[in-house]
Amino acid sequence: MRRREGRQGSIKWRIFGSFALFTAVILALLWIFQVVLLDPFYKAIKVHEIKTSAHTICQEINSEGLQKNLQRVALENQICCIISDSRGNRIYSENATPNCVIHRLSNWNLAVVYMVTMDNGGSYFERFPQEPYQPVMILEDNSAYTRQEESFESMIFAQIVTRSDGQQLMVLMNSTISPVGATVDTLRIQLLTVSVVMLLLGLLLALLLSRKIGRPIESLNSAAKVLATGNYNAQFNGEGYQEVQELSDTLNYAARELSKVETLQRDLIANISHDLRTPLTLITGYAEVMRDLPGENTPENVQIIIDEATRLTTLVNDVLDLSKLQSGAVTLERSEFNLTQSVRSILTRYSKLTDYHITFQAERDVWVNADELKISQVVYNLVNNALTYTGEDKRVLLRQEEEGGKVRISVTDTGEGIPQDKLNDIWERYYKVDKAHKRAQMGTGLGLSIVKMVLDMHGGKYGVRSQEGVGSTFWFELDGIPAAGREQAPGPR
Ligand code: ADP
Repeated sequence: MRRREGRQGSIKWRIFGSFALFTAVILALLWIFQVVLLDPFYKAIKVHEIKTSAHTICQEINSEGLQKNLQRVALENQICCIISDSRGNRIYSENATPNCVIHRLSNWNLAVVYMVTMDNGGSYFERFPQEPYQPVMILEDNSAYTRQEESFESMIFAQIVTRSDGQQLMVLMNSTISPVGATVDTLRIQLLTVSVVMLLLGLLLALLLSRKIGRPIESLNSAAKVLATGNYNAQFNGEGYQEVQELSDTLNYAARELSKVETLQRDLIANISHDLRTPLTLITGYAEVMRDLPGENTPENVQIIIDEATRLTTLVNDVLDLSKLQSGAVTLERSEFNLTQSVRSILTRYSKLTDYHITFQAERDVWVNADELKISQVVYNLVNNALTYTGEDKRVLLRQEEEGGKVRISVTDTGEGIPQDKLNDIWERYYKVDKAHKRAQMGTGLGLSIVKMVLDMHGGKYGVRSQEGVGSTFWFELDGIPAAGREQAPGPR
């Protein structure tokens, strides 16, 4: 088995690493957008603002509420605006910033701007540095002090528009781009604090998360390694998340089942070897006695050899039948047959057992659609068990009942019964309730598994009721055929 060592590969460190990386990326993005790109973003927005404002005013140049709109646009965007004619005469003017450049222009200057705009194809944009408007302080020694401000920038945008009366006007706007340096500084300090807090919180969370997820998985992993060595007592304790708990339950279940399989396998080898060895020893023993001692060549001894050989055949047949059924190679050969008649004919095989009292109660003949041979095997196995395990009175009662279109065959004995906690296990292969019981040793432990498989294939229900010291009743159900004429019809045998 290949094992991966090292901390880096472990789930705990992976989760921790991913989370830490995620936090770092988020912080880096915040830094880039809030600090590095703030200035270009801000300027781009300002340029966009002045151009859209000019566009809005140009569109409303003929409207009566132009003055009002101009005021609104100017105040909202902190823009100064002058609308003038080609000679520089102001028609409208709105001054919304304290440091406006265009309001300082003379009419002649405005006319020049008008011409430049016309030359430029009707619109003109310019961005230029502007002196800060903070007043210079005069210090005590009469020297002047000017704070080292970052340079302001100013921009103007002019657009020529034609009014409905044919007159061409110029919409001239100006806005100031305040330096963002101070804002960036504030943001930087804020971000630094947030980054440190986030990083610490992120790391803490990553550590907690990785522990919470990683710990139970590590514990499951080490228990699985114990299981892999063949120790089926390994305990899986995955606590925390639902999936981990489910995984742990599944693994515990798998470990229990594996240990059962191992016990079964051990029992199987013990059973099979015992079941094979006993008849073989007897056969060899009796055959040798008969060979060496002529007087021992009696029919009783021959019968013992035949009986033991028959037991061997049954065992081998049962093993083969079950493995065939389990491999899925067997298909059902369904036909309509008289179940009542079929049970009766099985019971005739036991007519020689005169010391047993076998009774079959059936109100009428019932037909079913099933594999007759396999259903006969089911009945045969159940009757055989009942005969083997029944009590001193040697009574076995078979009953046929009908209800809701179903026909139920039950086999009751008066034996020791089966403990309630074993009732589910008896259907397992090679399972014997009382291994020390002499008569139990006669069986192969396969009979009920064959019954179970055959009835499962038919989709029929089956079960057992048992009371210790009173006896057991094994039963199964099949669908009856409700044919009116069947009742009087003679059975197929
Ligand atoms: P076996 O060949 O050992 O009878 P089965 O699969 O038919 O194998 O039965 C499994 C076990 O169930 C038996 O070993 C026995 O312990 C128990 N069992 C089956 N039928 C009866 C019964 N009628 N009464 C009591 N125990 C039974």
